Amino acid sequence: MIKQNNININLSRVNFVSSIVLINKIKEIFTYFKKNKLSRKVFIVTDSNVANIYLTKTTKLFKNHGFVVFSYVFKAGEEQKSFKTLTDIYEYALKCGVDRQYNVVALGGGVVGDIAGLFASTYMRGLNLIQIPTTLLAMVDSSIGGKTAVNTKNGKNIIGTFYQPQFIFTNSEFLKTLDMKQLKNGMAEVIKYAISFDEKFFNQLSYKVNNSVLTNTDFNQIIYKCCKFKSDIVHEDERETKGIRQFLNFGHTFAHALETITKYKKFLHGEAVAIGMLFAVKLATKINMCDRDVELKVKDLLESFCFDLKPKINCDVKNLLSLMKKDKKSVSNKIKFVLPTKIGKVVSNIEVPDKVVLQTIKEVLK
Ligand code: ADP
Ligand code: ZN
Repeated sequence: MIKQNNININLSRVNFVSSIVLINKIKEIFTYFKKNKLSRKVFIVTDSNVANIYLTKTTKLFKNHGFVVFSYVFKAGEEQKSFKTLTDIYEYALKCGVDRQYNVVALGGGVVGDIAGLFASTYMRGLNLIQIPTTLLAMVDSSIGGKTAVNTKNGKNIIGTFYQPQFIFTNSEFLKTLDMKQLKNGMAEVIKYAISFDEKFFNQLSYKVNNSVLTNTDFNQIIYKCCKFKSDIVHEDERETKGIRQFLNFGHTFAHALETITKYKKFLHGEAVAIGMLFAVKLATKINMCDRDVELKVKDLLESFCFDLKPKINCDVKNLLSLMKKDKKSVSNKIKFVLPTKIGKVVSNIEVPDKVVLQTIKEVLK
């Protein structure tokens, strides 16, 4: 059982240390507040679903420890990740008298983390930020790395900042109330780390999913491993300038195209990433970067987690190709793929002829 694995990632926000702390009980966070001399004032930002389950309890806990607490709840849903919500939060915080002594607590999944992060990084030129991720996806991915954002009507995550939280307090207990669809959403990123970086981890996941149910202890171990993968990469390349963060993008080029073409309505991010990973291994097999055996293993694992790998979407494959070419990571109209050479190892910056890409898209969508 992992107790407190304090992975200290020293990120570049001058003089600040951002730590991921895996906690067993939410009240353990107070030790860290105290040790780090954070003020006893918090402004909690959360969404309506998370608030229904956790806000009363969390507020009470803070108040019992002598904290001044204000909270802002916005309606759950990706469409709320907007300027309008951000502005509402600014207004409300001002009304409550929230000043620079307050710590912003992002209690929720990726949507809450992104918007609360952007609020924290801009309100009064920056307040301390504490992330308490409540979805698997946020625990293993989006809460780590300091990206904040809101969407505009022309695109996802267009406006945002890099802003490292003081702490990320991760507690797998939150997963107990998360539905299976959302759990799978995060599991796709977990599988991504396994394929990209760690064959042994991949085999463990395969064994677990096929031979037993995943327990809380398993989740703790999974989360610990993934936090380590992500934080190591972020540590090397905090602002995505050195090309190292690209390794986190395995499966994402095709996933982003699928999400965009279906206007973010058909797939959860992880569902698209699962298909994107299958696409990427197929592509790697086609250009002889890896054995067909890898493709079969990846497909097997994704199927064991019940991902739908045969999406029914009505679209022209050429449109998917041109969307991939417009991806942020493409350079001069050339798609730079992250592809595996084996389970546990990916290589970035791989160019593949359009003809082969089109053929692979057709195969995945047929
Ligand atoms: P992601 O982390 O995948 O970006 P979102 O922030 O979009 O997730 O959250 C997905 C959904 O799950 C939202 O409706 C959110 O309100 C809800 N949610 C988040 N955490 C929990 C939880 N621990 N229990 C139940 N529902 C949750
Ligand atoms: Zn992702």
